[in-house]
Formats: sequence, structure tokens, C-alpha cells
Amino acid sequence: MAKVLVVDDAKFMRMTLTNILQKGNHEVVGEAENGQEAILMNESLKPDLITMDITMPEMNGIEALKKIKEKADDVNIVMCSAMGQQKMVVEAIENGAKDFIVKPFDEARVLDAIDRVLN
Ligand SMILES: [Mg+2]
Repeated sequence: MAKVLVVDDAKFMRMTLTNILQKGNHEVVGEAENGQEAILMNESLKPDLITMDITMPEMNGIEALKKIKEKADDVNIVMCSAMGQQKMVVEAIENGAKDFIVKPFDEARVLDAIDRVLN
């Protein structure tokens, strides 16, 4: 069981991921709507893992990933990507993201990715 911070600007996506994570016995300790919130909530909540959307207002997921990794390299971040975002996924992995999951989310794949990252 992991403490997870879910980051996505779309409420529906946060709800979907939260449901999947809870089915996998993980605890969603917080939800952030943009990269700036993600940085602050990572510092206050100290999650085991962050699911990070890429396209968000204020600050996108790539910028947030870089800033979080600069300060705390041990944070596990899994990127959430949509079709056609391969370049950004590669940039995220190069900057320390552990894995990525693709929308629309498949429950088994999401939970597999999270287990792989944590073990
Ligand atoms: Mg988005």
C-alpha cells in the first residue's frame, strides 16, 4: 500500500485514478490541479508516489517533475500521458520519471506500473 498524490487538472481524471488506486489498496493522500500545487503538496504530504498529468494550466507536469526532482530525487513520479505525447514522455523519463501510464486508464496497467515502481 502506497500513499499517492494524484495530479491532474481534470477532475474526472483525478476521480478515475483515485478509484483505481483505492481498488489496489493504495491511499490517495491528496489531489493537485496543476504543477505548482503538486510541488507544495509533495512537500507537505510526502507521498510515496505521484501520478503526474502532463498538460495542465499554471505549471505543466514536466516543469513540476523537474522542480520536484531538483529538491528531492527520491520521489517516485509516474507520468500520465495522452496519445501523441511521446516526446514529452521521453523528456519526463530523462528527467527522472519512473514510468508512464496512458489515458484512457486501464486499471490493471495502472496498478502494475505502480507496483513495479514501488518494488
Ligand atoms: Mg491535463
